[in-house]
Amino acid sequence: MSQPEAVAPPVVKTALDLIGHTPLVELTRLDTGPCRLFLKLENQNPGGSIKDRMAMSMVTAAERDGLLKPGGTLIEATAGNTGLGLAQVATLKGYKLILVVPDKMAREKILHLRAMGVDVRLTRSDVGKGHPEYYQDMAQTIADETGAFYVNQFENPANPLAHETSTAPEIFAQMEGDVDAVVVGVGSGGTMTGIGRFMKRMSPKTEMVLADPAGSILADYVATGKIGEAGSWTVEGIGEDFIPVNAQMDLIRKAYSITDKESVETCRLLLKREGVLAGSSSGTLLAAALRYCREQTTPKRVVTLACDTGGKYLTKVFNDFWVAAQGFDEREMHGDLRDLIA
Ligand code: PMP
Repeated sequence: MSQPEAVAPPVVKTALDLIGHTPLVELTRLDTGPCRLFLKLENQNPGGSIKDRMAMSMVTAAERDGLLKPGGTLIEATAGNTGLGLAQVATLKGYKLILVVPDKMAREKILHLRAMGVDVRLTRSDVGKGHPEYYQDMAQTIADETGAFYVNQFENPANPLAHETSTAPEIFAQMEGDVDAVVVGVGSGGTMTGIGRFMKRMSPKTEMVLADPAGSILADYVATGKIGEAGSWTVEGIGEDFIPVNAQMDLIRKAYSITDKESVETCRLLLKREGVLAGSSSGTLLAAALRYCREQTTPKRVVTLACDTGGKYLTKVFNDFWVAAQGFDEREMHGDLRDLIA
């Protein structure tokens, strides 16, 4: 009997070779107004997030610049995904890794990092830049004391460069050179700045649209040029209380401020309607992308990103009890998942 011809998926030497080349799926089960909306599945990177690309590029640049010697130690301040990306690179390249992580982050991420042998130092989530226990200040102090290489995703130029040279050209090619808008979040700013720089050069019509959690200062800054007082938000990985060096804000044309409730609802809708299990920041991006699409009066081709996988948020975003405890859902709860509230 003749076998059907299979298209062979790539066979690679290490997981690092699987970084990038992520698929794009059109979202056809959501109300996108007159627009077509496409989701780039960055959750399909081997480390599970959009941060694999920049983790690889920052380590490669440090090696090239002589900042990292064989067997050396990396230190980073991270909400988790950069840490997972760095842990993967460190494992395969033989580096030690210390991570300073704010304690509000999902337990799944922390457990995953610990499982990879990372030295995780949890610190306070309720203090701002300038406080010694703020995660970035603490990482800098440890780097100064130990001589470890502080990766510093917020200022490292290899971060936006990874997106300018890989994420953006992939989007442009997948969209056959016709992209009206890309909706992004800003954590370190690497994704936005990298894609924005590429589009400015190659596709000036493309609007960079910011999806910002309510409480972050960034959306307001885009609208008014002023840095306001930061609040708090539960969405992980995006939103800031300062403007990172790597966030070239003048690339952004439009910004939406999205509440945690709307982010969570949209994240759950993405799973229910489209079958894509993505993390909380993807809910924020998708909520902003849907608003942008519905406001348009002419058909547009819009791209947004699934930044990481929802598997890390099963006890939070996808747990009805957590959702109710946050006040996002009023309904009465039954069952035994109460213990899992993160
Ligand atoms: N989403 C998630 C889940 C993240 O962890 C991050 C990175 N902190 C981002 C989005 C934002 O990416 P960037 O740092 O490139 O601005």
